[in-house]
Amino acid sequence: MSPDVGRTRFIFFTGGVSSSLGKGLTASSLGRLLKCRGLRVTMCKLDPYINVDPGTMNPFEHGEVFVTEDGGETDLDLGHYERFIDENLHKDSNATTGRIYSAVIAKERRGDYLGKTVQVIPHVTDEIKERIRRLGSDDVDVVIVEIGGTVGDIEIVPFLEAIRQFRRDVGRENVCYVHLTLVPYLGPTGEQKTKPTQHSVTELRSRGIQPDVIVCRSDRMISEDLKRKISLLCDVPIEAVVSAVDAANIYQIPLVIHEEGMDRYVLDLLGYDEDAHPIDLSRWERLVEQVDAATTPVRIGIIGKYVDLPDAYLSVVEALRHAGFHHGAKVDIDWIQAATVPDLLEREGLRGYDGLVIPGGFGERGVEGKIAAAGHARTHDIPLLGLCLGLQVMVIDAARSLAGLEGANSREFDPATPYPVVDLMDDQNDVVDKGGTMRLGSYGARLEAGSQVARAYGAEIVSERHRHRYEVNPRYRARLEEGGLVCSGTSPDGRLVEFIELPGHPFWIGTQAHPEFKSRPDQPHPLFRELIGASLARAEGRDPHLIDLA
Ligand code: GLN
Repeated sequence: MSPDVGRTRFIFFTGGVSSSLGKGLTASSLGRLLKCRGLRVTMCKLDPYINVDPGTMNPFEHGEVFVTEDGGETDLDLGHYERFIDENLHKDSNATTGRIYSAVIAKERRGDYLGKTVQVIPHVTDEIKERIRRLGSDDVDVVIVEIGGTVGDIEIVPFLEAIRQFRRDVGRENVCYVHLTLVPYLGPTGEQKTKPTQHSVTELRSRGIQPDVIVCRSDRMISEDLKRKISLLCDVPIEAVVSAVDAANIYQIPLVIHEEGMDRYVLDLLGYDEDAHPIDLSRWERLVEQVDAATTPVRIGIIGKYVDLPDAYLSVVEALRHAGFHHGAKVDIDWIQAATVPDLLEREGLRGYDGLVIPGGFGERGVEGKIAAAGHARTHDIPLLGLCLGLQVMVIDAARSLAGLEGANSREFDPATPYPVVDLMDDQNDVVDKGGTMRLGSYGARLEAGSQVARAYGAEIVSERHRHRYEVNPRYRARLEEGGLVCSGTSPDGRLVEFIELPGHPFWIGTQAHPEFKSRPDQPHPLFRELIGASLARAEGRDPHLIDLA
């Protein structure tokens, strides 16, 4: 083994037949199982698309942009990874074709290639391998690398070539290839078909990769006979054919593949002694029990712009669910198109909801609907959590309705507003006309002692991840506070408003951050936990004050 990767082993996940089979979740589940065996695991996603990062991609198309502590704008699968393996990842845990080519081209411009012709092999593949290698260290036992897309895609070829070479570079015994395929069930003949699996394994082999493990996604168990057939045709031992049947919820996947012996097989393949790594699944099993026991219905409305693709708010949904598990509640989510809110308010209001969330977003569409929803929640005692843009629309509502600043707005939506209560800031947190730096990644905040948010967190110094350009304009803070809004958390220098709340309201809390990224299934985020607490109290007609829950 080359010395620069220490004792780290590498597991590569590829997918075949179809996208959306849950490759990321399966990889995360294996990661969790290996962690439950005492191994130190990290994960990474290599995406064959050409965008340098998903930050510029339309959430309608690609789903949410997941933000890491160090400010990486990454693929939403990293959210699954963090939630399943319970480790923070970083910018380098995600790389795209675009990022890799930019690095190669920058090196070429600097003259690093010493006059050579720069080619996919070896220059691009070397860049990919270097990125994978960098994830290995003395502190990491296993790196799990998911290759986005499916074998057979044009863009995936350099990645397959790189991971093929990688095995030779670091030694066969340190690498394991897992291939995830679909085994469809054909109703008319009542059969499960292995042909697509055979074809996709053939495709993978044509790139020089013989899978070590084949995970078969299916809506029903794969019989021993069928496993034997796949084993024979795809040339893997029968124990290496894993039946990953659809699970009732994603948290069961680790248990499903553990039942199939997948973690034991991979452990053995990578040369670990099973006796030295017994599995302790108790924490995860407790979580699954909690998930099953979460049955009290609570109805939450999410008011957003990208409601046709719920993946656009994946971490928000997950954070709500985690909070539900804590309270034994099943969170039923209703997607409310922001633009329809004014109509909805005229007809029936938002009375039917136990709680509301206004998540992050960019651009003007639907903003007035969100402002109206914030106002309605405020005047009707409906618990509301505002996230990033959510906080901004709550501030606009408070400015217009409580502080008497008619026409107040964010300059993002109305550049000519007489009261730009939300505006662009420069590096010194002063209002600027143009540009504005995107605040990305983790920032600390100070919470006001005794405030609702401080009680929820049980702390006065907190840190959350950010992704936005606009901020509450410090010039209007005094006016807003005179109107009754409480800025209950600020940046450490006191200039930027990070949290707001409204005394006397059961739960009308906004944060400039994206706390949803830090929620974990068995450690719900405090703000989501208290939102669901307040929503349940409303559903059950109890006194909902957060202050009593603390
Ligand atoms: N569009 C707003 C801004 O840039 C909010 C961004 C967000 O919600 N992530 O500040």
